[in-house]
Amino acid sequence: MTPMVRAETVGKSFGDVEVLRGVDLVVEPGQVCCVIGPSGSGKSTLLRCINHLETIDTGRLWVDGELMGLREENGRLYRLRDSALGRQRREVGMVFQRFNLFPHRTAAENVMEAPVVVRRESRAAARERAVELLTRVGLGDRADAYPAQLSGGQQQRVAIARALAMRPKLMLFDEPTSALDPELVGEVLDVMRELAREGMTMIVVTHEIGFAREVGDALVFMDDGRIVESGDPRAVLSDPQEERTRAFLSKVL
Ligand code: ADP
Ligand code: MG
Repeated sequence: MTPMVRAETVGKSFGDVEVLRGVDLVVEPGQVCCVIGPSGSGKSTLLRCINHLETIDTGRLWVDGELMGLREENGRLYRLRDSALGRQRREVGMVFQRFNLFPHRTAAENVMEAPVVVRRESRAAARERAVELLTRVGLGDRADAYPAQLSGGQQQRVAIARALAMRPKLMLFDEPTSALDPELVGEVLDVMRELAREGMTMIVVTHEIGFAREVGDALVFMDDGRIVESGDPRAVLSDPQEERTRAFLSKVL
């Protein structure tokens, strides 16, 4: 089986700062991989490299068997043209800590935007599917609400529907509940749990250790640009092998 994500010794620097220092990661189709680690350890950068918001400096990164941002021809590597890169990136959905919905567009219009503009779907078809997706995240009755009329948890669920509208084969979540009031976290995690149950491949950077334990197929602990430890979430959480993992967990558990 082709892994959904394969990273091999991925390195990334910003100027003199080495942010990723040889990251190896494999995520199989249908798996939920949770990523934890201290602030500044490179978690967001890793996600941004996976969907090519950032270009990696060293190593290789494949999504569903395709090298991200590159094509190989006669043993040589060439940068992809923008159109080909765009196609690759559309297959990876991303949900951020800040939902960044268009404030002057309704929930449905936010979800329809990319299908209409990028995939050139008709407005009618895109609207129908938007309402379907909003129903899936529990917001079928709020399709015509504006972001300001929705709670943070509802806005984040719209953002998830918006990402799903492009029919991604992989979903990346970067601390999707960190900006939410505590009482709104559960409704977003419930939607993610359901998505996982339906078989979506997901990489989730999160501080929600309970979610990682219950929903995660794998847990990765990052520190200082490296994957320090990874494995079955229950095993890593109950019996971490590395001192740095233990130290981190003792602070967050
Ligand atoms: P995390 O998500 O684990 O908190 P990040 O991947 O956001 O970590 O950041 C890792 C390091 O890279 C930090 O030191 C951060 O300041 C730095 N960094 C991230 N993005 C950039 C950027 N675009 N330019 C310069 N430095 C960056
Ligand atoms: Mg981050």
